[in-house]
Amino acid sequence: MTTPTAPESKSFAETALTLGGKSADEARRTGAIDKADDQVEALFAPQYQTTAGPTHRAVWDESGVPVDLFGFDLPPVPPDVARVMDASLEVVRRHRTAGTLQDEQRKISNPVLEELAAAGYWGLLVDKEYGGSGAPFTAFGPFLTRMAILDPTVAGMASVHGCIGAVDPVRTFGNDEQKRRYLPELASGRKLSGFALTEPCAGSDLTALRTRAELVGNEYVVNGEKLFITNVVPGRTVGLVCLIENKPAVLVVDLPPQENANFQLRKYGLYALKHTHNQGIIFKDFRVPAANLLVPTRGDGLTIAYHGLNLGRTALCANAAGTMRIMLAEMLPWARYRKTYGATIETRELVRRRLGRLAGLIVAADALTAWCSSLIDRGFRGEMECIIAKIFGSEAQKEAAIELYMKTHGGRSFLHGHLFGDNVHEYLAPCIYEGEGEMLGMAFFKSMVKSHGVEFFEPIGKTLVAAKIKKPNLANPAHLWALREPMLKYGRWMIGKKLKSRPTPNYPQMPDTLRGHADFAVSFLNKSALEVSGTMRKHQLALADRQCRMAEVSARVQTAIVMLCTCLYAARQNDETVRAAADCICRDFTRSLTGRRPEDRDYRAVTKLGEQIAEGAFSPISGLETSPILMQYDQ
Ligand SMILES: Cc1cc2nc3c(=O)[nH]c(=O)nc-3n(C[C@H](O)[C@H](O)[C@H](O)COP(=O)(O)OP(=O)(O)OC[C@H]3O[C@@H](n4cnc5c(N)ncnc54)[C@H](O)[C@@H]3O)c2cc1C
Repeated sequence: MTTPTAPESKSFAETALTLGGKSADEARRTGAIDKADDQVEALFAPQYQTTAGPTHRAVWDESGVPVDLFGFDLPPVPPDVARVMDASLEVVRRHRTAGTLQDEQRKISNPVLEELAAAGYWGLLVDKEYGGSGAPFTAFGPFLTRMAILDPTVAGMASVHGCIGAVDPVRTFGNDEQKRRYLPELASGRKLSGFALTEPCAGSDLTALRTRAELVGNEYVVNGEKLFITNVVPGRTVGLVCLIENKPAVLVVDLPPQENANFQLRKYGLYALKHTHNQGIIFKDFRVPAANLLVPTRGDGLTIAYHGLNLGRTALCANAAGTMRIMLAEMLPWARYRKTYGATIETRELVRRRLGRLAGLIVAADALTAWCSSLIDRGFRGEMECIIAKIFGSEAQKEAAIELYMKTHGGRSFLHGHLFGDNVHEYLAPCIYEGEGEMLGMAFFKSMVKSHGVEFFEPIGKTLVAAKIKKPNLANPAHLWALREPMLKYGRWMIGKKLKSRPTPNYPQMPDTLRGHADFAVSFLNKSALEVSGTMRKHQLALADRQCRMAEVSARVQTAIVMLCTCLYAARQNDETVRAAADCICRDFTRSLTGRRPEDRDYRAVTKLGEQIAEGAFSPISGLETSPILMQYDQ
């Protein structure tokens, strides 16, 4: 099997893997991914690249955590965008009430898709000049949360179409002719789209792609198979990642109105995303006009894929924030109704703790959605931040579903017609799509260490190779002498990090409790450079194989970032219960970072919050409709 062509110059990852003794094939494949990442990076001006982003700077900046980059005010939603959003919500609300959201196959029905098109829903992210409403992401992200409260599938479809589907690739990488040809149709919803990247042999490993396109005359002839593609039915449009001359590329493909000898769908039973279409696609000598090739100014097809995925990951977190609101709202009437041992379960500590914890997860997911959206609008690449949002959103939703929602509803969770039982796969699948969480956690780690590695560790590695030292031993004067220069440079960095005092961050006005948590997160992040660098120092070239440690260190930094972001977001909210929820979740974050057991006051805080939520005090869920209680026993 041929793989994508190796890049001309070796990336840091490829150099490190080669020095670490990995096979040429593994080093080249990892290097190809790393190179694609470099090329996405190069699309952004230096002040917006990963190393200038808030997360990278929070770990490595000499002057400490740039707290100003974690705080933000959401700008007001432009009135014309708000009109489209309100009209779209109204369409879904109306069909929900009428029970007509889904067709007989239990998929979101065509009339709903068409009415959403008429409302302008599919064009939210398309620029105005092409018939869309050019919504800023700061408006789009929180709007998806509102849509997810009404229907998470409809919200998810906007993200598939607008973020990872054809809209973002054409908007960002299309030439003028492609934009004129595609964007108006994508905006109007005449073309709905998806993104076809995964293949039976290529999911986590995108260097294993096999679908190929060969230029014959003025057409590409495509052969290969895609798997798990959301939003795909005949007649729709996909951004297709395939190999052209052994390099990943993206073709915008209009699928024929019916299956034929060149285009077939592979149907299978899939538990998740059951209210939309998800199928495999088989292309056999399928012809696509050469004019449909997207040519990024830098990089290749993976560059295009990575760009859209960032938006999709933020959208996923927004969707989780809405879905978790539904769970919390659904827990309340049940907890008020269900009596055991003479008292309703809403009066019990365990149940109150679950309510409080879930409120905390919601506030943190809201914070990440708003923060990542604002970074995207400000022009940041946001790679590390969007990964945090995706991992947190999907893990929070999983925890909410299983640990909090299911447990509180007991056996009824598994009845047909119960939201948990009917949707459990929907609640879990986000942990996998748009990148499985632990794999993304490692990608986060790699982004975090890349520039530090290039600056300090690559010179050490290269010196070892040049001096033919296989295992460095600093007690050996010859080794010490060979390594003196890169070691001195690293030593100076370490001493500087240890000794340098940092100015007190410039926090906005915030309650003392949140300020205390923010201080903890900042101090943790200030120390994390030494922890991360220490991990690199300890494992050196074997680090690529120390996946468990990378995942663990990555998760710790992510937690501190979520914590800081949540504090600054909650400090701007007027609802006292939202602030209390942020306080409670931050106590949990602190304990997960310190390993301390909960104190009684932690339990008092979270159960008091749960009691207030049960009394209706948590504004993010006010007014939400809930389902009837199943198997009532006191009628
Ligand atoms: C509901 C749903 C919708 C989807 N929609 C789309 C879509 O619209 N478009 C699209 O292109 N794709 C889509 N996908 C595919 C999705 O993105 C992939 O399933 C995902 O990226 C994981 O790929 P995989 O399933 O091939 O996992 P595999 O590559 O088979 O990996 C399985 C697991 O093995 C582990 N693993 C793999 N490699 C390593 C390693 N090097 N080190 C350590 N552990 C490793 C990881 O835990 C990983 O999750 C969808 C999937 C689902 C379930």
